[in-house]
Amino acid sequence: MGNESELLNRAGPTRGARGGCSLQALPGGSETIGYSVEGRPLLVRHCGDDGERLRLFILAGQHGDESDAPKAALEYLAEFASNPPKGVRLAVLWDANPDGSAAGTRRNARDIDLNRDHVLLSAPETRAVHLFVNRWRPNLIVDVHTYRPWRPELLQHGMVFPQDVMIDFPTNPAIRTGWTPAARNRLFARLKQRMAEASLRCDRYTLVRAPGIVRHSTLDILDARNMFALRYETPTVLLEGRRSSREDPRIFTAPHRALVKSIDAVVEWASRRRQQMRRERPGPPQYYDTVPIQCRYIHSNSPARYMEMQSASFGDIQVVGIPGEYLPSIKTVRTVRTPRAYAVPRTAAKLLQVLARQNLERAPSSGPGRIQAEFYRIWCEAGTELSEGSDVAPFTTTERKSLDAAKYVLFPTSQVGGRALTLLLEPESQFGAHRFPGLGLPLEQASFYPVARVV
Ligand SMILES: [Zn+2]
Repeated sequence: MGNESELLNRAGPTRGARGGCSLQALPGGSETIGYSVEGRPLLVRHCGDDGERLRLFILAGQHGDESDAPKAALEYLAEFASNPPKGVRLAVLWDANPDGSAAGTRRNARDIDLNRDHVLLSAPETRAVHLFVNRWRPNLIVDVHTYRPWRPELLQHGMVFPQDVMIDFPTNPAIRTGWTPAARNRLFARLKQRMAEASLRCDRYTLVRAPGIVRHSTLDILDARNMFALRYETPTVLLEGRRSSREDPRIFTAPHRALVKSIDAVVEWASRRRQQMRRERPGPPQYYDTVPIQCRYIHSNSPARYMEMQSASFGDIQVVGIPGEYLPSIKTVRTVRTPRAYAVPRTAAKLLQVLARQNLERAPSSGPGRIQAEFYRIWCEAGTELSEGSDVAPFTTTERKSLDAAKYVLFPTSQVGGRALTLLLEPESQFGAHRFPGLGLPLEQASFYPVARVV
């Protein structure tokens, strides 16, 4: 992987009229935003237009065994610096998992998959990234990975993914980034076009599951793509470069080069519409907002997923219908109205720690007194099977009671990312904090759920 001095050499001359990116000339140079488990620094490189209109954050290398992702981020940084688009300020964390990349492992030194740690933030690496995003407030985040094209589920049909880059977007329906589906589709179309011009294949990230289910990325909020979009209301794009394999019967473009091309296409698209992107920031969340808390991928009228596929034995690439049932649409099966605030008991120390790591704001302490609130009583019998996330959604009823304000911390829902509170704190939420046994939020039959709603 490239090092600092190599980058320096490639970054060109000191900053000129075009706002280029020399390490010395940058305010603060490279910024250390935190440290890994083994004490390696997490370095963010800032670069681009000081009169920034659009802030763009590239996050690469969450998985330590995907070395093409950091390589692509560094190469892109050098290219950006030599010809920075107007009005764009770039921050690049090219190695988000330096311990994993030193050891060649997907996970960090504490065996945590960082891209599944965006709810609990139990790793110092993910905590540092969230603190940075909370402070720097990018308008767009690009999360760079590589994927394995040789999948057993596809190989049983004699197929391999030939896409140089797969792209995906935030998919959890509770997410409000102000980014319309139309804007998303335009980005996808533009990316495909730019990649095709460079003879590269690009498609939407697609999963083929063993029982013959074909769908897109998970709806869960554990990963950077969904959680950044939910918590910071920031559009987040996932780019996955095709990992090369010795078994490939034909030559593919080097994965990091394909990724550089795709990052460039996303940045170009964003810089052209930077004013819209800034305007598209959603307004403050409303009290009594309706938030989807259970959802799943479902069939729609579209018959099959057609995409380019490579024959595993002959190497030829054709557009084919992928075998299996295609679930292209997302259906919300349960919604809830947000309260004014959620009341978390001070005794729920682990949960309060997670909410603090999520940088969610607390209401100022109101001192002693009693507050009317709704408490959930859990009835587990009427569970609903869900295809993703928790297996059983509990059936609940609410009861009004007053609570002792001194014993609770209140989290107002009318803050940026207030919907994250709803997803994490509602007991019927498929994405709730009760899924994590370590947090001590059991859904016990006929008990009251510890978190209350201040209405
Ligand atoms: Zn990855």
